Amino acid sequence: MEVVVKRSKRRKKTIQARMIEGRMEVLAPAYISDASLQDHISRLQARLVKRDGARDDAHLDARAGYLNKKYFQGCLTWDSIQYSLRQERRRGSCNCTAKTIRISQKLSGLPQWVEDYVIVHELAHLLEPNHGKRFRALVRRYPLAERAIGFLIASEAIERNHG
Ligand SMILES: [Zn+2]
Repeated sequence: MEVVVKRSKRRKKTIQARMIEGRMEVLAPAYISDASLQDHISRLQARLVKRDGARDDAHLDARAGYLNKKYFQGCLTWDSIQYSLRQERRRGSCNCTAKTIRISQKLSGLPQWVEDYVIVHELAHLLEPNHGKRFRALVRRYPLAERAIGFLIASEAIERNHG
C-alpha cells in the first residue's frame, strides 16, 4: 500500500489517515518522530486492511470455487488462481493447458460482483479458449455479466483519463 505522509505544524496531537484513490494519506503533526509515526502507520494500515477485508489469493480461490459450483455444476478444475500486478491492460488471463488463472490486482478494489464476472470469464476459458458463441453462452450464465462489463468499461475510461 502506498503511503503519503503530510506533516503540518498546525496539527497538534492527532494523526489521521484516509484512503485516496488506493493510497493512504496520513496527516501528522510536524514534531512527531519518524519511528513513532511508522508505528502509527502500521497500526492504521492493519485496521484499514481489516475494514475493507483486503482480498488475497485465498479469497480468489474461494470465490472461484463458489462460482464454479453455482454456474458450472462444479465441473471445473484449475491448478491456481492468483492476483497479478503485471496485468496492466488486461483484466485477467487463463492458461487452459496449465490451468492457471491470473486476475488483475486492480479488480481487488472493485465491487465483488464485478470481480466475480472476471472470474467467471476466466473460468469459462477452461472450457472454451476463444470468445466464440459457446464461450459467450457460458459467461451469460452469470446474470450480472452485462452490467459488470459496463462497469469495467466505465472505470477503465476513468483510469485512462487520470493518466
Ligand atoms: Zn477472455
